[in-house]
Amino acid sequence: MKNRRILIVEDEKKIADTLKKGLNENGFEAEVAYEGKTGLKLFDTRSFDLIILDINLPGINGYELCKRMRATDPQIRVIMLTSLSSLNDKMEGYDAGADDYIVKPFEFKELLMKIRALLKRTLIGGIPTGNLLKASDLEMNLDSKEVKRGEVMLNLTAKEFQLLEYLLRNKNRVVSRSDIAFHVWDIDFDTNTNVIDVYINYVRNKVDKPFGHKLIQTHVGMGYILKENG
Ligand code: CA
Repeated sequence: MKNRRILIVEDEKKIADTLKKGLNENGFEAEVAYEGKTGLKLFDTRSFDLIILDINLPGINGYELCKRMRATDPQIRVIMLTSLSSLNDKMEGYDAGADDYIVKPFEFKELLMKIRALLKRTLIGGIPTGNLLKASDLEMNLDSKEVKRGEVMLNLTAKEFQLLEYLLRNKNRVVSRSDIAFHVWDIDFDTNTNVIDVYINYVRNKVDKPFGHKLIQTHVGMGYILKENG
């Protein structure tokens, strides 16, 4: 079995490096990012099984990172690592999609236990999802890159496919234009561009227009939502 890959996002160099060393010694392949942006870049370009996220980070904080990673990969396991120990902070971590939480200072052994438990759960629970994304009669196959509405095959460009994939991964949730810009175009949002609205229209013309039941809806001032049964 290949080594499980872990990304550590932690700005305290000493903690990050100690963790990396400990994890590598325990048969994991660990990588470190010392700030949020680098963490997100690594996350987007390589595949990881689990993320260890500090909360107070320069640039993007751990909560925000967790939300973004979760939006891209709903299967990813996240452990929040923090010196904040109040209940409210924990709640915020879980709200952001963390699977577990560990408060500094902590025992490496305890973290290792949590990591093993989470990865075990991934192995058992993570496989049968397959590579299909679905909402109502819309179906996207991530392997063959085919998109179907009912029995009708839809012909999308690469960018339209990525946009629809992002909407499907976040179905029943409003995504803002800046979320879309960040995840689909890999840019920070520029208010002067209407490229997202233009592409939403392209996708709508193919995915919704020819069919009676509209899946992609606009939330004025907030963004877009792909709504199952909506
Ligand atoms: Ca920190």
